[in-house]
Amino acid sequence: MKSAVLAAVVLTGIVASAPARAQHAHAPHEHGVAELRVVADGSALIVEFASPLDSLVGFEHKPRTPAERKAMADAEAVLRNGAGLFQPSAAADCRLTDVALDSPWLQGRRHDHGHDHAHAHAAPAGDGHAELVAAYRFDCARPAALESLGVGLFGAFPRLRELRTERATARGQGAAVLTADRAELPL
Ligand SMILES: [Zn+2]
Repeated sequence: MKSAVLAAVVLTGIVASAPARAQHAHAPHEHGVAELRVVADGSALIVEFASPLDSLVGFEHKPRTPAERKAMADAEAVLRNGAGLFQPSAAADCRLTDVALDSPWLQGRRHDHGHDHAHAHAAPAGDGHAELVAAYRFDCARPAALESLGVGLFGAFPRLRELRTERATARGQGAAVLTADRAELPL
């Protein structure tokens, strides 16, 4: 992703941009593979996670059974707990201040503040696939100390094999692939 795009994402608010992501099909959607974008800008640390629903709950249709509804609700609960999934460098003293989820069949609220934004909600892709996007904002008291981001997604979602990351921070930009054995992203 180009820096201008990343800057625009920060400026417009990643939460507002998340719904568009959930229904996009910019890249082949590959089960077991998800994307993570991380932008550090001043005191803000923005993390956006986009995944095939299959990698999170094991299906990509509207939940039909109590078990499927529970699987969806459980995944949402895990994803809302951003402080449990993402660990920025402790010295940076980052606090999670915002979480937003979008996916076609969310069982709970899309936004942790309870106010839904005026936007079109994510729709299934139409090809039998569907995604979920989760966006997080941390505010860091000492952003200069931000050196890494620990990622707990693999433990939470065993179907997830690979996380393709892009980052843009004061130290520059880069891309990396994380796996369960390598789940810390240098920033
Ligand atoms: Zn799919």
